[in-house]
Amino acid sequence: MNTKKILVAGKISSQVKEYARTFIKKDMPLLEIAEKIEDKIKELGGEFAFPTNLSINEIAAHYTPSYDDKTLAHGLLKIDLGVHVDGWIADTAFSLDLEDNEEDSHKFGLHPENKFQNTNKKLIQASEKALENAIEILKEDILISSIGGKIQETIESYGALPIVNLSGHEMKKYELHAGVTIPNINDKKNIILKKGLYAIEPFATFGNGKVHDGKPSGIYILIDSKNVRSPIAREVLEFIEEKYKTLPFCSRWIVKKFGTKALFGLRQLEENGNLHQFPQLVETSGKPVSQTEQTILIDDEKIVTTE
Ligand code: MN
Ligand code: MN
Repeated sequence: MNTKKILVAGKISSQVKEYARTFIKKDMPLLEIAEKIEDKIKELGGEFAFPTNLSINEIAAHYTPSYDDKTLAHGLLKIDLGVHVDGWIADTAFSLDLEDNEEDSHKFGLHPENKFQNTNKKLIQASEKALENAIEILKEDILISSIGGKIQETIESYGALPIVNLSGHEMKKYELHAGVTIPNINDKKNIILKKGLYAIEPFATFGNGKVHDGKPSGIYILIDSKNVRSPIAREVLEFIEEKYKTLPFCSRWIVKKFGTKALFGLRQLEENGNLHQFPQLVETSGKPVSQTEQTILIDDEKIVTTE
């Protein structure tokens, strides 16, 4: 592991998060939010570890704006961003409640200081606290299931449920999801945490606590470099191999580079088995989901790189 590069990537992601908090407002186009975040990552000297995910309400993850996206920010918005420096990744996320129901709460006679007045805010607190508690107990040689147990226990103490089929993960050079997963529940597995680079990401909901596959996301990953017939597909494939390697990318970036003619190339690459396209991940009951995520380096000491 390259600690120096891991820390630089983490620092950039943390500055971008801070910046994102200053400008994201309700009704801002998601496209504009994604571009501002990604421009900032470049400006600070980072590369993209994956497309900025801006998932609203029941979409728990894997929504990134398309090149012509018209969606406006609203509801419970998850901002999940990734930076890498020479393949060393920082993966971090936070949630915002853009409905700001504080004024409504007056109408219903709720005290504005009551932090549980708004369900979106309560969900955000639940995932934030779950992550904080998980990081607190995190150390080399701990049972990984006990981290999941801590996340589950914390989220349930808010009357919410963790998303059982989404988890944190180990990261390696140019590999966003490598090695072990860090569950959001006590999965009773007997696996010990080793030194390494990890993302922990609790998701909380008042729904079923489960996601299923939704629409195609426009987020892809290279799975096979085998030959493809059409020239545009081949051109796009070469670009992906060179630029993104084994990290996820999106159709918006490909359109930016080649224009909309490349969408045909992407479709061919998917059909030919060169690319896997991720589906959006949607809470099965349709209820909102919050997410909080940090990257943690477990070496001789424990460092939250994305703080
Ligand atoms: Mn993430
Ligand atoms: Mn992650």
